[in-house]
Amino acid sequence: MASFAILFITLGLIIFNLFQSSTYKSIDKDIRNQVVAIKKQPNMQKQTNPDPHDPNNHFINSKPDPKAPFQASILVFNNKGKLTNKSSLGNRYSVLKNIKLNKRNVNLKQTIVVNNMNFRSILIKVSKKNNNPMYAGNYVLIMQNIDTQIQAIQNFEQILIVTFFIFWIIALVISYFLAKINMLPIVKSWKQQTEFVNDAAHELRTPLTIIQGKLEYMLTKPNKKIIDEAEAISVSLDEVNRLNSLTNNLLVLARSDSATTKLNFELTKPDFFLKDPIEPFKDIINSQSKVFQINLIHRPTLYLDRDKIKQLLIILLDNATKYTPKNGTIKIYDQMEGSKYQFVISDTGVGVVDKDKNKIFDRFYRVDKSRNTNSGGHGLGLAIAKQIVTVHKGHIYVRNNLPHGSEFVVELPIKH
Ligand code: ADP
Repeated sequence: MASFAILFITLGLIIFNLFQSSTYKSIDKDIRNQVVAIKKQPNMQKQTNPDPHDPNNHFINSKPDPKAPFQASILVFNNKGKLTNKSSLGNRYSVLKNIKLNKRNVNLKQTIVVNNMNFRSILIKVSKKNNNPMYAGNYVLIMQNIDTQIQAIQNFEQILIVTFFIFWIIALVISYFLAKINMLPIVKSWKQQTEFVNDAAHELRTPLTIIQGKLEYMLTKPNKKIIDEAEAISVSLDEVNRLNSLTNNLLVLARSDSATTKLNFELTKPDFFLKDPIEPFKDIINSQSKVFQINLIHRPTLYLDRDKIKQLLIILLDNATKYTPKNGTIKIYDQMEGSKYQFVISDTGVGVVDKDKNKIFDRFYRVDKSRNTNSGGHGLGLAIAKQIVTVHKGHIYVRNNLPHGSEFVVELPIKH
């Protein structure tokens, strides 16, 4: 509001001043023309006008000045300040008779008000050598009525104020809506940030409460041996591990949010980042009586941070293993989709219902909280996965694996 007001007021003042000064300049120019005309009175002998006493006739007497204004009045004072051209003023005399000669104002441009009429005036002392005896040796006050110009300036001022006010209101309405639109993503991310902090605090509190409970319980039995309290100790250790992984994940997210993680992008082929993380899962999955199938055949050139993609693969394989029951099948395969390379981790597990398909990539979102707490999740894995894919200008989504289970598709751009 303030900046628009300042802009409009400044603009208004500049325009108004320019208009005012140009109006006064043109009036002063007219008066100057008259001064020049009076001072250069031509020889009376050459004049055709029979009335040499009418000073207002100097335009007609000599070469008429085409720029001389009609609103001009000329008052001639003698040295004693007496008005000497009463007759030539006609009915204007009744208005102008109150004007007194002030010799100090010689050559000064002034704006004077007489009977509510505005005049721009200049007083000159005409030399005794002037050819017009009416002027010679006298003081001549040239006055030009400027009521029309003042009226125009006032009208202009009013129009300017009204216009600027209307435009200011329009600018305010527009800026209000623009600001609102611009604020949307900020408000959204601010809300997300607050939710994130709340969720993080909540997630941290649960294991801490459990550890505190177990430690307090053990304190009540100071004479017991460690072996007797193995269960309490192991539960506490589990929670410490959970806390550890949670803080690590939080740190990963916070670092990528603030873009402080340095990424090592390089040109590479899928062999160099898919094989390593897959290897340990072969044993883990088989040991859980599940089937692991690998079908990676494409070798496009990609530009990526291998460690980050490895981390992404671990998250997806870990989830597939977690959410697939015994005898289920976990599969990883790849395919080319136009200028994109896709690798897909599919499982025959619990699957993801449609309404959760987007939400599971949000921070701390878990489909079944109680079940997932047991399986050790905090709902941060897929949020990290999405962040990794985003920095690689790729795309990650989940689709159904028929007849049951889910398929997580990671799409990465191919470097040509
Ligand atoms: P969590 O640590 O809880 O697994 P994630 O962010 O990795 O957190 O996953 C978010 C949620 O998405 C999980 O809680 C789970 O409900 C769902 N989910 C992830 N992967 C799978 C999968 N392979 N099958 C079924 N549900 C899954």
